[in-house]
Amino acid sequence: MYVPWLVDAARSTGYPVVEVPGWQTRGHGGMRVVEGVVGHHTATSDSAPGDYPSLDIVTNGRADLAGPLCNLGLGRSGTVYVVAAGCAYHAGASRWLGFLDVNDEFLGIEAESAGAGGWTDAQRDAYPRLVAALLRYMSRGLDRYAGHKDVCLPVGRKIDPVGIDTDWLRERAANPTVTVPQSVEILERITVTPPDGGEHTVRVFLSGSPGSAIVVRPRLGGDGSSKPMWVGGILAWGSDHAGVGHNPAQQPGYDARLTSHRRYDVPGAVWADVRYSAAEPFEIDLVG
Ligand SMILES: [Zn+2]
Repeated sequence: MYVPWLVDAARSTGYPVVEVPGWQTRGHGGMRVVEGVVGHHTATSDSAPGDYPSLDIVTNGRADLAGPLCNLGLGRSGTVYVVAAGCAYHAGASRWLGFLDVNDEFLGIEAESAGAGGWTDAQRDAYPRLVAALLRYMSRGLDRYAGHKDVCLPVGRKIDPVGIDTDWLRERAANPTVTVPQSVEILERITVTPPDGGEHTVRVFLSGSPGSAIVVRPRLGGDGSSKPMWVGGILAWGSDHAGVGHNPAQQPGYDARLTSHRRYDVPGAVWADVRYSAAEPFEIDLVG
């Protein structure tokens, strides 16, 4: 399977997320199952510039090993890079909790660090949050996180992630304590607070680009299920005040009820009116 929820899990950390183009279908085939997470460090030099200088290698591979080499990357800023939804060559010969050669069973995170134990404060906060989010999405416990050093065969073949103790990470994943910094958002996200559960309209402003879209996000409850809400229609206008796109509510088979996030493409729109009803606040991401 190609894991469709990687971006949602990454966003739930509160850190910025970069979708590496093509992530949805990247992999050495699909995952056979999705049963856990393995942590790594990239071992790229500290002097390499940028937030995630290993991005090209983990996506495209290196001379002796074809990419992808991880499912997710973690930059110095805590930004999460979604690389591959399918099987990535990150663990090599390995075993954990009865799983053998875990590449097509466990997701791999390659976090930017030279391998001498140096991590940014943002990474120390974001790494456990990302692990917790992924395990939550796959409904697995924290024992399903391990470092490459824990799962590698033969034992001792790998040391990564240096400076991220497995027990420490699990404890932090269970009890995130540091407030997420207000980083630059890749997308603009607005919160809509309905005055009541009736039908209302919220106007959102967009860039007018061909890729303009909105993503409506019902909130997740404490049990991980979302509170249902309804989007009864979207009317969008371009910069020439002409209507653009099609009201999705007029598509045959349109289901107004949302139980998870849904994307509506509104190419060329500079504003859009979203008709909704919801009992609880929800989020809208403005894209493009
Ligand atoms: Zn590794």
